Amino acid sequence: MVARREVVLGGLLLLGWEISSIPAYARTSLGAHIHGPGCMLTPEQAASFFDDAPDTRMYITGSEPMIPKSGNEKLDFALAQTLAKISDVFDVLPGFAYYDDSDGLNAYATPAVRLNRSDGTVLFGQRLLNRLMSGPENPDASVAAVCAHEFGHIVQHRKGLTQNLLAGQPTVKRAELQADFFAGYFAGVRKLQRANFPAAVFAMTQYNFGDNMINNPSHHGTPPERSDAITAGFKTAFTEKKSFAEALVSATNYVMQL
Ligand SMILES: [Zn+2]
Repeated sequence: MVARREVVLGGLLLLGWEISSIPAYARTSLGAHIHGPGCMLTPEQAASFFDDAPDTRMYITGSEPMIPKSGNEKLDFALAQTLAKISDVFDVLPGFAYYDDSDGLNAYATPAVRLNRSDGTVLFGQRLLNRLMSGPENPDASVAAVCAHEFGHIVQHRKGLTQNLLAGQPTVKRAELQADFFAGYFAGVRKLQRANFPAAVFAMTQYNFGDNMINNPSHHGTPPERSDAITAGFKTAFTEKKSFAEALVSATNYVMQL
């Protein structure tokens, strides 16, 4: 996948390229399958959720204005490298930008093509970024964990996994935990490459994002469920040394039996 990596790097070096010529938001057919919002949102999903959404989610439409840089040059540079690695492992190429999440800390993925990147777009809230970067231990790994989770949603979109995962489900938990599994897989790959990679931060980060609103359509998994999914994905890479194609099957099996 050398060509893809080159494209990614080229794109990320221009992190905020063509910001003034963003095409109108492209609607997709994915929204026909609405089972409540995860952080993979289509406009239709956002609209359907509007009535019973917690305030923190109300304003996510997939069309928030994009902000190309965080204001921290070193962070942007390091994160661009991390995103290139995630793209390479997952074989997806979404656009990436920050956005104003003053209505509620968040990051999300959308299949909407907004930065001339064919695999959709990942938007990372500025406040969420600042919150994570103020963490006590390896804050950059926390940011990477969230990015890997969101890129995991892009994988789901590319592979058409979401509908099957969510069929008949009252919440988006299976899709969210599969994205966590993918993030854990990425941490496992990095740990194989670099022994001191802080993979445990991935589990801790997603544990902290767990929720106990088990009857809410936007339930993402309890704290232990989220860290367990990270750990399961990690083992698939680090211990079992599976390819990502194999990990896709493992991840699906893992969440389908929950
Ligand atoms: Zn998610």
